[in-house]
Amino acid sequence: MSWALIPLSEEQRAIQQTARDFADAELAPFTERWDRDGVFDRGIGEKLGALGFLGMLIPEAYDGLGLDTCTYLVALEEIAAVDASTAVLMSVHNSLPTQMLLRFGSEAQKQAYLKPMARGEWLGAFALSEPDAGSDAASLRTQAVRDGDHFVLTGVKAWVSHGGHADVILAMARTDTPDDRKGARGISAFIVTPDMPGFSVGKKEDKMGLRGSETVQLVFDELRVPVANLLGEAGMGFVYAMQSLDNGRLGIAAQSIGIARAALEHSVRYAAERQQFGKAIKEFQAIQFKLADMATRVAASRTLLHATAAAKDRGLPITQYGSMSKLMSSETAMWVTTQAIQIYGGYGYVKEYPVERLFRDAKVTEIYEGTSEIQRIIIARELYATS
Ligand SMILES: Cc1cc2nc3c(=O)[nH]c(=O)nc-3n(C[C@H](O)[C@H](O)[C@H](O)COP(=O)(O)OP(=O)(O)OC[C@H]3O[C@@H](n4cnc5c(N)ncnc54)[C@H](O)[C@@H]3O)c2cc1C
Repeated sequence: MSWALIPLSEEQRAIQQTARDFADAELAPFTERWDRDGVFDRGIGEKLGALGFLGMLIPEAYDGLGLDTCTYLVALEEIAAVDASTAVLMSVHNSLPTQMLLRFGSEAQKQAYLKPMARGEWLGAFALSEPDAGSDAASLRTQAVRDGDHFVLTGVKAWVSHGGHADVILAMARTDTPDDRKGARGISAFIVTPDMPGFSVGKKEDKMGLRGSETVQLVFDELRVPVANLLGEAGMGFVYAMQSLDNGRLGIAAQSIGIARAALEHSVRYAAERQQFGKAIKEFQAIQFKLADMATRVAASRTLLHATAAAKDRGLPITQYGSMSKLMSSETAMWVTTQAIQIYGGYGYVKEYPVERLFRDAKVTEIYEGTSEIQRIIIARELYATS
């Protein structure tokens, strides 16, 4: 079930195998402990970096691998199938901060920040959300005020994935004034590093799932950011963030498919082993139908995702299909992991077997980088925009 319906090239298959080998050797032995103890292992980022997996979409001129989107998503699915927490690190870094720098950064910013990020030496994070600004991200309140050759940022960013260990954070803040609010066009993007005066890491979230991924608040207390670290044009930060999220959602879709696939594979094995009423439970049609539906949803989600990635690489607009992919894959992950627990019965409800963790890890895919409700809003809006 791990092979794609749309055929992979030889190079894609080789990278898939590299990702699989890496996940088996470097993630599988630790996943359970990271989940149980809520451990974020920064060293995994370094190992992913050494493989080139933190610069997959960055051109070779900026020290990346310069791969196409589908190849990146194939690798990401393999990582997610073993450890969804590592997958979110890989997805955020590859899809959000590095893509924002690549697309909107100056040449000096690319040389200074993008290159070490693409080499995997520096880890990138993305700070858009705030405690009171989630789905309605344009209502964010962190304020940036110009002071000579610096901007001074004050506010709290929430839910920042690996924000306490990131070397570079792409943070969105308001550059409009309280007297002249400009809505989404009053937001700018800044390149923040943790050594800047006024930066501190706040509350660490104690999460239901994805417990090997760190999620923190970042506190900007008159954080002094050089004017040279404004990304692109002032007032365009929200637009840059939304355009990057179009790509980010493909990463979350691949993560979701990895989680769902793992739950399916565990279920197929378990149903062949578990005996009740004198036979393996896979002999019961009720179980067969569940497995069939699980496999169908995984295959459909992956096929839509790979087709969307191919469209993106052909330069086509993918806002609607990206949202469809994220919506379908994340709901597949939640549904498939729920069925997996049912197939395991009581053994699915305890931590001894991996499907319990997969179920908890799946839930967040319906929430971050735009909830399922927000994806449906985007899809419906695009229906009217294109009709
Ligand atoms: C583990 C984790 C990691 C994250 N990582 C990052 C990160 O790295 N960087 C970052 O910036 N953010 C990150 N986030 C934040 C994430 O993107 C937000 O949680 C998400 O956008 C939802 O915002 P919210 O939690 O404030 O929910 P709310 O926006 O308060 O939504 C609550 C409910 O209301 C619904 N709702 C809201 N508006 C509407 C509407 N107009 N119509 C219908 N329903 C609506 C939502 O769908 C949801 O069901 C992360 C979150 C989590 C949980």
